[in-house]
Amino acid sequence: KMAMLGYGTALKILFLPEKELKSSSLSRNEIVAFINTVAKMSESLKHVRELTSLYWANHVQPEPLNPSPSLPVIIPALDLLDSAVAAISTLGGSGEISAEREGYLLKLALQRDTDLLLLAKYYANDLNKFLQHSELLGDNSKISTETAVEPDAIIIGSGLAGLSAALNILDRGGRVLLIEKEHFLGGNSNKASSGINACCATNETTDDYLESFKEDTIKSAGSAVQPDLIEVLIANSAEAVTWLKQRVGVDLSLLAQLGGHHFKRTHRPSNGMAGAEIMFALQKAVKQYQKTGMLEILLDTKVSTLIQNEGQVQGVQVTYLDGDDNTTRPNEYTSSSVMLATGGFASDRSNDSYLAKYRPELLNLPATAGAFSTGDGVTIAREIGAGTVDMEKVQIHPTGWVDPKDPLNPTKVLAAELMRGIGGILINSSGKRFCNELGTRAYVTDQMLGHDPDYASNKKWNRNNENVNFSLVLSSSAAHDGQKHVDHYVHKGLLVKYNGVDELSKWLGVNQSIIFETLQQYQKDADLGIDEWGKTSFRGIPRLDLVNETFYAGIITPVLHYCMGGVTIDTGGHVINLEGNTIPGLYAAGEVSGGVHGDNRLGGNSLLECTVFGTIVGQSIPIKERLKMSAPASLQTTTGKIESREISIDELRMHNTPKDCWVAIHGVVYDLTDFADEHPAGAESVISLAGGDGTEAFQAIHNENLLDDFDEERIGILKVT
Ligand code: ADP
Repeated sequence: KMAMLGYGTALKILFLPEKELKSSSLSRNEIVAFINTVAKMSESLKHVRELTSLYWANHVQPEPLNPSPSLPVIIPALDLLDSAVAAISTLGGSGEISAEREGYLLKLALQRDTDLLLLAKYYANDLNKFLQHSELLGDNSKISTETAVEPDAIIIGSGLAGLSAALNILDRGGRVLLIEKEHFLGGNSNKASSGINACCATNETTDDYLESFKEDTIKSAGSAVQPDLIEVLIANSAEAVTWLKQRVGVDLSLLAQLGGHHFKRTHRPSNGMAGAEIMFALQKAVKQYQKTGMLEILLDTKVSTLIQNEGQVQGVQVTYLDGDDNTTRPNEYTSSSVMLATGGFASDRSNDSYLAKYRPELLNLPATAGAFSTGDGVTIAREIGAGTVDMEKVQIHPTGWVDPKDPLNPTKVLAAELMRGIGGILINSSGKRFCNELGTRAYVTDQMLGHDPDYASNKKWNRNNENVNFSLVLSSSAAHDGQKHVDHYVHKGLLVKYNGVDELSKWLGVNQSIIFETLQQYQKDADLGIDEWGKTSFRGIPRLDLVNETFYAGIITPVLHYCMGGVTIDTGGHVINLEGNTIPGLYAAGEVSGGVHGDNRLGGNSLLECTVFGTIVGQSIPIKERLKMSAPASLQTTTGKIESREISIDELRMHNTPKDCWVAIHGVVYDLTDFADEHPAGAESVISLAGGDGTEAFQAIHNENLLDDFDEERIGILKVT
C-alpha cells in the first residue's frame, strides 16, 4: 500500500503543472511514502549489478580478451567490467586522472584484473573512493615515493614568465618548485604599465589583423629580427590574453594604441595598472596549488648553479638569503626540467657585469628594473654552455622619474608612456622644449642625450657624464586625463602640484618670462597643429590664463628599461647551446631569453612574450606519472567571517607603525602588518599609509575587487564621524 502511494505521489509530482505544485499539493503521508519508495528503488539498483553478475556467471562463459597463464580468469564479470570502464572514463573525462593513468587503468580492466574489478564491485558507485583506492593498483609501485614527490619542474624566478609556466604545469597535474630570490613574488612584471598586446582576443571590435601586428613587430626588431620567434609570439597572442582573462581572471577590457603600432591592440585593465593586476591575479591562481601540495615556493632563495649530468640538466644549487642559519636545509633540489625565468641584467653595474662587457658606456645610467635584475639566469646557463644573443641591445626609456628625496638611487620608477600621451611637455634646464614628445622612445632619448656635446657629435654616451635631468610638465587638463597615474605619482612624491607659472618657474629654477614664452609658443603651435619638431597631435594644452593654471611637474631622466638580449632559445622555449643544440632539461622564457624582440622591443610585447613563451614551456615540460590532485578551486577555504566592528579615526591613528599597521580603504579597516612584507611593490608603500586612509593611494594602482582577498586582514569598518 505504501509503495502504491509512493508511486502515485511520484506520478502526481510528474504530472502536476509546475505552478500548481505547492507545499500544500502533497500530504505528509504522500511525502513519506514517496521517500520510502525512492529509498527502496535505490537499494534495489545496487543489487542489480550483483544479480546481473550472477546471471552472467551462470549463463555465459566468455573468452578472456587476453588469456594469460599468470592471470586468474575470473568470473565473466561483464557488468563489473562495465562499471570499471564507466568509472575510469568518468574520472578521465573530468580530468581527475591523467590520460596516461586512464590508459593504464583501462588496460587493467580489459585484462580483467581481479583487483580492479573488485574495486569496481564495491566502489564504482563512489568515484572519490574508487579514485583514492585505485592508487593501490598496479604499477604505482614502480613510481617510487621519491620520484612522485620530485617536482616536474623547478622554475627560477616568479615574474610573469615563471608564473605563466607554473600555472600551466600545475593545471596539467604536474608538481612545481618555484624559487625566488626576493621576499615577494612578481619581479619587474609587477611594475609593467603599458599593457599586453594581442591580435585579436575575443569580443573585440577592431580592424586589427595578424599581418599588421607581425609587420609592426618585425619593423621594430630591425636587422636582428628572428621571424620564427615573432611568428610564435604573434600567433599565440590572442590565446595568451584570453587565458589571462578567462583562466587567471584578469580584467583586460580596455584597448589602447601604443607608439609603433598601427592599431589599438594593447590590453589594459579598466582600473589599475596592467602588471600589478595581472601578477596579483596570477599569484592568487598559482598559490591555490600550495594547498594541494603540488606547489612549493621558496622565497629569499637564490639559484646559484645548474646541476647537469651527462648533458641533462637535473636540478639546481641554491643559497638562502633570509639570514636563517638553519643548516639542515638542502642546498640542492633535483628535477629533470629546469626553467629560467630570471628577468634581465640592467641592474648589475659590477665590473664583470654584462653591461660592463657589452655596453660599458651605459653603466652609470639608472634603470627601471629592480635591484634583483642581475642576469643570474644568463650566467648560470652560460656556465653549462648556453649560447647568448643580442646582449648589447639594451632599451633606454626617456622617462624615468627622479625622486627628489633620493635622486641618486640607481633604480627609478618609470614615468609611464601615458604621461607623454596625455600631453606631458618635456622641458630642459634652460626652460625650453627640445623634441616632439610623442616621438619614439629612441628618438626622445636621443634628443635628451644630445644635450651633451660629446654625444651630439659622436652619438656615443660618455659613461663619465653626469646623468641628464629634464622636467615633465602637465597642465590641469592633462593631469585630469591621466588622473589615476597622476594620483599615484603625486602620492609617491614624484609629481608635485604647482599653482601658476610663478610657482612652476621657481621650481624649474628658470626665469618666469622664459617659461611664459615656452608655454605660449606651445599654445600657438597647438593652434597651428604643428611645431618645429613635427609634433602634430596636441592634447592637454595649458589654459590661456597661465597665471592661474594648475601644473603638475616632476624630474625625469633616461633610464635603462629592457634587455632585449639573453640566452638563445628556440620556438619551444628550449635553451640552445653554443653549437646550436638544445640543452636537455633546460628551458627559458621572458626577459632572460634573447632574440624575440631583435633590436628593439615594442611597447606591450614584453608581458606578451612572458605569457606566450611561459605557456609554451609550461605546456611542454614532461609530467611524471602520478595521480592528479583534484582541482584546487574545491580546496579554497574562506572563513566567511567578515568583521564589522566600528573603528574610530582616533583608534585607527594609533596603529601607525611597521609593527602595527592598520589602513582604512574604502571605509574598511585592514590590519596590513603581516601583509606589508609581501606587498610586491615593497612594504614601504603600505607602511607609509599606516594609521590613515589609504583609499586614494590604493585606487591609483589597484582595482577595488582586489580587496575581496583581504577578508582575513579586515578588522572592522571606519566609524563615520
Ligand atoms: P620576466 O618579466 O621575464 O618574468 P621579472 O623581472 O618579472 O622577469 O622576474 C624575474 C624574477 O626572477 C625576479 O623576481 C627575480 O628576483 C627572480 N630571480 C632572478 N635571479 C634569480 C635567482 N638567481 N634565483 C631566484 N630568483 C631569481
